[in-house]
Amino acid sequence: MSIQSINPTNGKVIKSYKEDPENIVVRKIAQTQKAWLKWRESSFKARAILMLKLADQLHKERVHLASLMADEMGKPLKDGLAEIDKCAGVCQYYANEAAAFLEDQLVETEATKSYVSFQPLGVVLAIMPWNFPYWQVFRFLAPALMAGNCGLLKHASNVPGCALSIEKMIKDAGFPVHVFQTLMIGSKAVSEVIAHPDVKAVTLTGSTDAGKKVATQAASLLKKTVLELGGSDPYIVLEDADLEMAADICVNSRLINNGQSCISAKRFILVKKIEKEFTALFMQKMKQRKLGGPFEVSTDLGPMARADLRDQLHEQVQRNIAMGAKCILGGNIPAFKNKHAYYEPTILTGIKKGMPAYDEELFGPVAAMLSAKDTEHAISLANDTTFGLGAAVFTKNGSLGEEIARTKLQAGSCFVNSLVKSDPRLPFGGINQSGYGRELGSFGIHEFVNIKTVYIK
Ligand code: NDP
Repeated sequence: MSIQSINPTNGKVIKSYKEDPENIVVRKIAQTQKAWLKWRESSFKARAILMLKLADQLHKERVHLASLMADEMGKPLKDGLAEIDKCAGVCQYYANEAAAFLEDQLVETEATKSYVSFQPLGVVLAIMPWNFPYWQVFRFLAPALMAGNCGLLKHASNVPGCALSIEKMIKDAGFPVHVFQTLMIGSKAVSEVIAHPDVKAVTLTGSTDAGKKVATQAASLLKKTVLELGGSDPYIVLEDADLEMAADICVNSRLINNGQSCISAKRFILVKKIEKEFTALFMQKMKQRKLGGPFEVSTDLGPMARADLRDQLHEQVQRNIAMGAKCILGGNIPAFKNKHAYYEPTILTGIKKGMPAYDEELFGPVAAMLSAKDTEHAISLANDTTFGLGAAVFTKNGSLGEEIARTKLQAGSCFVNSLVKSDPRLPFGGINQSGYGRELGSFGIHEFVNIKTVYIK
């Protein structure tokens, strides 16, 4: 059995990797468990030194790593470089903050001394997706290792080169052997890893379907999970919004990573009065984005990560049109190369309940426009979703914007006059079908620890 990386710009196999057979997987779990028994005893200071070296390693290798992403999943080089820098940032952040986040917390009781201590859990399995092949892993890895846990990575099957490069960088940064290893396995082999007694917890970023399967098994074994799943983020544009700025931000958000981001804006909810003007501005800005090869400097949008994902998106677009939506831009598979995974930036208007763009996640460069009678209606459309990852509202009325973000929108992150983005300092995660648990910030590092009560009479 092999895992292949396929170049999405031309459909050619870049490299085949031998899948780890069961005995190797079991050996790797045992090695990482052994590494953990020592790693958990290390000081925050020692961990931080290594984490900062890892940040240096990322900086040193940024061009190579961004090129790997461009080859394996089509991310334009300039975006890949920014992703690597962000990974270095999260390493530095947790290197500097972890000790304070995990400091013992004294609690006054009748005891001589009682307090809360945050102890590592052990080996955590990370099941990660291909859309941000480094960022998704590093935002787990940095807090996990700083908390004294160890990690096993099951990366998406289309980015095996990226997966192995992470393992290598950790080794080159000088971390003790086996504290973080890559399992070269497909999704069918994951169940045995979850079931292994030395694997104490699981984190998954990916589709809601994969999340449910993994969480079901982990729950049956009483293993903790954190799930960061899909989204259908609504962006509300109110009638007093700065439309030029809103259109700019909305297009940027929709096209982040070619639309293949859980927190891309997906549904644009436009109050009737500004609908026409906003849509025209939005279209003008979408048209300016250039499709091209990921290594070309002028490229804004590379291919999608896999041809099957592009086909799935195109099928969703067609279903919307068949149900009465209007396609005012794109909607085509460009015919300029063979076997590529490109898709044109696309705008669908007249989206109504029951259409795929209303009910499902569109994971690619397709914007769905919804019309709202007024502010209240816009909020109810925004919340009429099974997801709940991010949401944004655009208005010049600061206090109204804040009230909508704070109390009305049902999502894990609500932004005003800005696109939803992850930041090491702020917790990140969803509600409902978008998952549970939080990554990043102080909340993220507390997910995989034993919140231990210590009581001395
Ligand atoms: P998946 O959710 O299938 O893949 C994400 C990760 O989960 C991969 O490592 C995958 O492994 C693994 N996985 C999948 N099924 C299982 C399972 N039953 N048990 C254990 N691990 C599993 O995403 P896809 O790549 O198929 O993309 C499909 C859709 O998922 C997208 O269109 C998008 O809607 C959503 N998605 C959301 C992401 C996010 O950031 N929230 C990221 C990626 C996708 P393998 O690759 O070997 O199958």
